[in-house]
Amino acid sequence: MRKKLVAGNWKMNMTAAEAAATVESLVESIDYRDSVDMVVCPSYLCIPKTVELLHDSHIKVGAQDVFWMPKGAFTGKVSAPMLKAAGCAYCIVGHSETRGRFGKLEIADTAVSHFSETDHTVNLKIAALLEQGIVPILCVGESQVERENNMTDAVITTQLEKALDGFDPDELDDLVVAYEPVWAIGTGKTCETAEAERVCAMIRIVIGEIIGTSHAKGIRVLYGGSVKASNAHELFSQPNIDGGLVGGASLDPKEFAAIVGAA
Ligand code: PEP
Repeated sequence: MRKKLVAGNWKMNMTAAEAAATVESLVESIDYRDSVDMVVCPSYLCIPKTVELLHDSHIKVGAQDVFWMPKGAFTGKVSAPMLKAAGCAYCIVGHSETRGRFGKLEIADTAVSHFSETDHTVNLKIAALLEQGIVPILCVGESQVERENNMTDAVITTQLEKALDGFDPDELDDLVVAYEPVWAIGTGKTCETAEAERVCAMIRIVIGEIIGTSHAKGIRVLYGGSVKASNAHELFSQPNIDGGLVGGASLDPKEFAAIVGAA
């Protein structure tokens, strides 16, 4: 039986003071159940304070990205040992926004190449995180154009095969995969529940082909893309959807607490 997981991706929102206020409100709002794992992923600068405030709580802290080298001349980057030392238990990897694939584009499209994540860098990042005992939350998903061209399953299969290349199956036992259709991220458009379940089941089959079906059965596959309290219960009731990766709705502690409640 896989334990449900609800992770909040706070993206580039909140100063450390705002994050602290949000965490305090979250702790008051969440009705803790042993059946659900909870994670919040603040920006790097908010991680230390968030870890301190959640020290006695069941809510874990994650990062939104990582650089794969442990240290060195990599200006502006943050390594997995640094995340570990700061108290991170999880880290999002390969989010569509770091891949330059935006559901809602809020910058000039001439600047999108700044976000240059590839399946290869995702693979390197997963290795760096596993070495530190940090659980990767690997994001995969198709764009609107890819969906319209019936490429959804092929795109996700390639993302998974490249991201998980070269690992021993035992190393990946705690891996979390999030199905995040790019067109549903921050757009308010949610994938139909039946289609989200179909893709999450397909993801589990592909993972089974890569690391074996017995390992794949234990991997948690989340759905992400405009999850809110009103649609969470239906999504999380599906047999292959083990919880959610929540962006916008995780910024509101009461809404996030209600989504956790749905899980
Ligand atoms: C996300 O960014 O991972 C996400 C799912 O965002 P939102 O819930 O805002 O669509």
